[in-house]
Amino acid sequence: MFHKNSKIIFFTGAGMSAESGIPTYRGKGGIWNTYNWQEYACQNAFEKNPHKVLDFHELRRIEALKCFPHSGHKIIKNIQDENQETFIITQNIDGMHQRIESINVIELHGSIWKLRCDKEKLELEDSYGGKYANRICSCGNILRPDIIWFQDNLKEKIVDLASDIISQCDYFISIGTSGMVWPAADYPKLAKRSGAYCIEINLEETKLSYMYNETIRMEASKGLEWLYNKF
Ligand code: NAD
Repeated sequence: MFHKNSKIIFFTGAGMSAESGIPTYRGKGGIWNTYNWQEYACQNAFEKNPHKVLDFHELRRIEALKCFPHSGHKIIKNIQDENQETFIITQNIDGMHQRIESINVIELHGSIWKLRCDKEKLELEDSYGGKYANRICSCGNILRPDIIWFQDNLKEKIVDLASDIISQCDYFISIGTSGMVWPAADYPKLAKRSGAYCIEINLEETKLSYMYNETIRMEASKGLEWLYNKF
């Protein structure tokens, strides 16, 4: 199946990182049970108290650095090494795929390892450290985490790029996403319409399960291992 000329997309969500120990947002142990997003994860909060918001995101970075990519991340990386036409589209902001040196990663919701200056329209890579290397832009503006927060719009160029790649893929493999957040809900449909073979790896049935060609009810790493051995 994963032969050299196939175009493969892995579409990952919070369930992929949950196995590495990164907390989910909602549900048991979810971040938004402890923190009020209105105070920490929206533009309004940032404008009111930027350093409180930056402190919160530093905490997320510190927690993320205590976690590591799991064998499922490694399997995707191995498939990429064998097939250059393999892309990862992720809703996760933790950079786990890049930490195992995966390439072709499209981050729909941004990254905790990036900051941006909205005044100068600059996007800046920050180091893989807990604390931000620099909170202030050279122009004097306070830098903002380059993340899609509540009430933000997704970046048009990223959404367009993702749609473009999905509409050309042969295999669309969704892992650990409920598919309830737009545009995630549309992506498997787009892949299917474009003729791709669609596979879902998820512990539970989702609202989109019915439209996949194949569903694998396993945790991300085991599901990927099963898939990799099968093909
Ligand atoms: P979601 O919380 O809506 O759904 C997670 C899905 O993963 C569920 O369907 C669940 O059944 C499944 N799941 C849980 N553990 C699993 C495992 N070990 N193996 C396989 N499946 C598993 O997550 P979502 O669809 O990604 O959407 C939530 C939003 O929250 C996204 O916008 C995302 O950006 C954000 N988020 C990101 C992170 C992160 O960066 N790690 C963490 C939490 C939330």
